Amino acid sequence: MPEPTTATGGLLAAIAGTGRDAVRGGYSRPVFSTAERDLVSWYEAELTARGLEPEIDRNGIVWAWWNPAGLPLEGAVVTGSHLDSVPGGGAFDGPLGLASALRALDLLRGRGVEPARPLGLAVFPEEEGSRFGVACLGSRLLTGAVTAERALNLTDPDGNTFADVARRAGLDPAGFGRDEEALARIGTFVELHVEQGRGLVDLDAPVAVASSILGHGRWRFSVHGQGNHAGTTLLDDRRDPLLAASRVVVAVREVAAANPGARATVGRLQPVPGGTNVIASRVDLWLDVRHPDDAVTAAVVAEISRRAVELAAGEGCTVQVREESLSPTVDFDPALARRLGATLGGVPALATGAGHDAGVLAAHVPTAMLFTRNPTGVSHSPEEFCTDDDAEAGSVALADVLADLLR
Ligand SMILES: [Zn+2]
Repeated sequence: MPEPTTATGGLLAAIAGTGRDAVRGGYSRPVFSTAERDLVSWYEAELTARGLEPEIDRNGIVWAWWNPAGLPLEGAVVTGSHLDSVPGGGAFDGPLGLASALRALDLLRGRGVEPARPLGLAVFPEEEGSRFGVACLGSRLLTGAVTAERALNLTDPDGNTFADVARRAGLDPAGFGRDEEALARIGTFVELHVEQGRGLVDLDAPVAVASSILGHGRWRFSVHGQGNHAGTTLLDDRRDPLLAASRVVVAVREVAAANPGARATVGRLQPVPGGTNVIASRVDLWLDVRHPDDAVTAAVVAEISRRAVELAAGEGCTVQVREESLSPTVDFDPALARRLGATLGGVPALATGAGHDAGVLAAHVPTAMLFTRNPTGVSHSPEEFCTDDDAEAGSVALADVLADLLR
């Protein structure tokens, strides 16, 4: 890896070796894994080195405050992101926002800014939902968008409950749930994130302000058939759920294509028991659907569910559909977005199809996002990228925005 040429790039270079995935490429940093906890320790050390005192709240969110005047924390300006990743993800989704927050703090101090409100830096756990299935779990717990009871009973692919894994990470499961006190401290929230599309590449600009997040949700389809022997079971005698699931995957694409603007994906499919010489007894597949109009999202899922039942029946199988999460389309606070745009001299405004903790918080407090250019346009993949120069431009933009909001 070439030497980083900027402070933001230098911060990220320090964690470039953490959580690498030799099989998938890129990084696998699931929440509460050794890799993700190592990143949290790195971040806490960076905060401590800046004289801040990191603390983990009862929902597992890391907080630190720059509050030189010792003001009450209620109504503070908060910036933050996440350190967990999807399996085989990129280096920037999450960590860029946190490295930029540190860099922006350094820049604000270097400029001699005296904040009239405290600045909070926050790290949210399980943003990707890649371990327990519910995206933005930390911010959803904070806001009460998911109940503690539901969260604690979620299981990871190895069957561990969120409660057990959180306990092993030193958290008390009894403390999880909506946190009025923590919410009251967030007066304004700003999240910087690597762009997860080609918007800024096409506009030839390093930084954008977010306008909206597409509504999105996840559904688990469990297709039940008859597990049996691959050699002794005649084709006519089979009730093969993997065959049914494959037809469902094709139907997902067809239904999405018939609804302009819809994005529907099956990126994960799990045959049970999963043996080469075994006809599966069950297949779980996960459907991800996104559309700016929540009614269209609902209609797409309903149509896919209807076709799944039909296609499964054609193979002698049955289907259960369970919603795992659903987030309506979020339009970020227009006045705040305009204020950010004006501060940054009229940078572009971009909508995104990716979910973020900022989208969850937007239902409760004025919230904004900044995007930093990703030259590949690819995300949730090792090819996700951000040049050192653009990372630094993002940090400077974040510092400019925070300086304005902290006045
Ligand atoms: Zn992210």
